[in-house]
Amino acid sequence: MQSTDSSIRAGIKEICSDLHISNEQAHLVRKSMSLALEQGLNHPGSSSVKCLPTFVRNMPSGQEKGKYLALDLGGTNFRVLVVELFGSPQKQPLITVRKYPIPVEVRSGSGEQLFDHIASSIMNFLSEIHLNPDNLALGFTFSFPCEQSKLTSAKLTQWTKGFSCSGVVGEDICTLLRASLDKQGLEGIRICALLNDTTGCLLSCSLRESRCQVGLIVGTGCNACYVENCQNIKALPDELEGDMVVNTEWGAFGELGELDFIRTKWDRVVDQESINPGKQIFEKMISGMYLGALVRQVLLELVSQGSLFQGVNHQRLICCQDAFETRHICEVENDPLGENDRCRMAMTEVLGHSQIISPTDCYAIRLVCEEVSRRACMVLAAGVAGLLRRLHLKDAVIAVDGTLIRCHPLFTLIMSKKITQLMGEGYKFELRLARDGSGLGAAIMAAVQAKSNE
Ligand code: BGC
Ligand code: MG
Repeated sequence: MQSTDSSIRAGIKEICSDLHISNEQAHLVRKSMSLALEQGLNHPGSSSVKCLPTFVRNMPSGQEKGKYLALDLGGTNFRVLVVELFGSPQKQPLITVRKYPIPVEVRSGSGEQLFDHIASSIMNFLSEIHLNPDNLALGFTFSFPCEQSKLTSAKLTQWTKGFSCSGVVGEDICTLLRASLDKQGLEGIRICALLNDTTGCLLSCSLRESRCQVGLIVGTGCNACYVENCQNIKALPDELEGDMVVNTEWGAFGELGELDFIRTKWDRVVDQESINPGKQIFEKMISGMYLGALVRQVLLELVSQGSLFQGVNHQRLICCQDAFETRHICEVENDPLGENDRCRMAMTEVLGHSQIISPTDCYAIRLVCEEVSRRACMVLAAGVAGLLRRLHLKDAVIAVDGTLIRCHPLFTLIMSKKITQLMGEGYKFELRLARDGSGLGAAIMAAVQAKSNE
């Protein structure tokens, strides 16, 4: 019994070794990310990383003041917020927020349905908190790749993260929102700015920390933005001077095959089963939308080899594509070493019953979770190091946010260690958790714009 058990464990380790990223591989990813960023600035058409101009030119002064409406679409929840800024970095903004679930049928329905749903949620929220919509400035955090020509004009280039509403790609998001707001009788709301969540994250961190130059989101999706000199952004007219935030959209890295040398068969299945095969390859190795699905694939392989769930009903894992969610990974890895309580609790949800699973099963599940999340940290660290090296940032402050990085017990730690190692000597960096960047950032932009329009 003892020896079968240990040989099963060895077999599980062996299978998981496909998820290991060597140092050499990590450096290759880092270099190739640097190149893709460079290429994105110079020839976005031939780079997987588009480096999109955001038209966010100024960091907040901290003097921003007033009450603003903010929308946050594209993360775990759709949220409507009212943010009150008090004109001083010392005084914490006051945030009132409400989540509105977006039903699956809306996520894959028509664009009109989506924006109507957003407008009616705003209507509901405003009447609930008794706020008059007239002359209310709105900042919209819309966390999908957009080609912007100014702060209030943004064409969606493609959906990501499980959204697929028809009639929106190629259209101006602000125009679509405007139409739905007007239909609701919300003509008084002024759309002042549309921004990406990475930008929101960067802006909200900049309120208190002027050295902050990078915004990073590790949540449902994964993306980064940073401050670049306009002269280096080919897509902009030559006469533009000063800085601008660039939305890298690095989640798409790998679409030209850059990551094929480290992708596994499990990555390929997860990609094929997604609604955007071939897209967002880097994101699919890192973010919350996909890690659970990756774990499920590895577990299914262990099942088919007979090393997992013997005598345990695991029908739900086989049938249900999203049986294993990323939050289950976080729960499993939250078990103190040697204990299996949280693992068993998570598996009760995953398997849909509470039949006790064996210690070896728990061991396997934990190992797979650790390997999948660890690889995500490695690949992401390589991306971050590639960005920092390209920027020649010797002392960087990186604003970070996102459900995954906030909920996973070790993500930040493992990622930081790896970035340090990949950067080598002479580089310093700091990761700063920026809470509520999407809400705060949108409000700050709305404030800046509302003021410049006065
Ligand atoms: C989107 C980005 C976004 C990221 C994090 C990606 O899927 O393309 O625009 O910043 O997710 O939310
Ligand atoms: Mg978010």
